[in-house]
Amino acid sequence: SATMRLDRLLANMGYGSRREVQQLVRRGSVVLDGAVLADAEMRLAVTPDLAARMQVDGAALDPPPGMALMLHKPLGVTCSHKEAGPLVYDLLPGRWRTREPAISTVGRLDKDTSGLLLLTDDGGLLHRIISPKRHVSKRYLASLARPLEGHEAERFASGELMLEGEDKPLLPARLEPLSERQAWLTISEGRYHQVRRMFAAVGNHVEALHRDRIGGLDLPSDLAPGVFRLMGPDDIAAVF
Ligand code: URA
Repeated sequence: SATMRLDRLLANMGYGSRREVQQLVRRGSVVLDGAVLADAEMRLAVTPDLAARMQVDGAALDPPPGMALMLHKPLGVTCSHKEAGPLVYDLLPGRWRTREPAISTVGRLDKDTSGLLLLTDDGGLLHRIISPKRHVSKRYLASLARPLEGHEAERFASGELMLEGEDKPLLPARLEPLSERQAWLTISEGRYHQVRRMFAAVGNHVEALHRDRIGGLDLPSDLAPGVFRLMGPDDIAAVF
């Protein structure tokens, strides 16, 4: 794994400017494996276990670079760095806003969609999840304005459904009705507003949308809206 100077690592992780983190070290506030670190210029291997081995001002170090999070996205927050708030990034600790590399969402959920959203600072991981070649599936619970008519599952599965304004049909998708106006929909692409536009294409309208699964990774039932959790290797493996 890559090594990095301690002061650069802490500054990149949002603990302050290079000067500020050098002062932290000088004050004896940074501990590794139980020993105070005295040299801000020392080089460290940047590995996930640093979070368990290092403390800053008595608190566990934040997840080092190369991390991924799962968030239960609540309604009403936007997956963007630029738009007016509230943003999903506002749900993370404040110092993470200046992390380098930056944390981004893996794809997006609409402001009016809730559910499982992944975030990462690992560009390779992000690409592997959203790459069209991998067809990582996403499952949504859609609540509909009108009763299902019975033909929708077949049309979604056909591989021939066209969205308004597009010239390439959608890959087959699986619809599993739960009731007249509720259904699971599993898709393996990520086109803009795809689920809402799929139901519009069959004459319906999505009133509420919630994502509960990405690949084989379920939204944990004990993860409340607005709360995030660090992903472990098993969580990441479950996506693929
Ligand atoms: N499809 C949508 O229409 N919205 C989402 O947020 C996700 C998928």
